[in-house]
Amino acid sequence: MSTATLKVKEKKPGQRACDEKDAKGELCVGHLKRWYYYHPLRLAFSEEEEAALKEFGKNAEVYRCERCHTIYRPVSADNSTAGQKFQVRPVTLWGDFFGKKPKS
Ligand SMILES: [Zn+2]
Repeated sequence: MSTATLKVKEKKPGQRACDEKDAKGELCVGHLKRWYYYHPLRLAFSEEEEAALKEFGKNAEVYRCERCHTIYRPVSADNSTAGQKFQVRPVTLWGDFFGKKPKS
């Protein structure tokens, strides 16, 4: 089984509709909703959620198109070095929650 691959785009400030184009070149325009892919009390995650956890860590702010499920990450507004650190670190608790490897 391969893990889900996430399609990740940058969400421009204020953007609330998906600008992904479908095969015909038409805009998706689905709503971008905050996507809570992780919850500490949840025991099971979909492949997509697991992939997001690996990619972003637990508490990243991500949005997902409700139509095509494209993931959007907010562009960090502050690109200066004085801004908050915009860095996602992989955390080892992955192993705590998923001690058993999925069958491979
Ligand atoms: Zn979309």
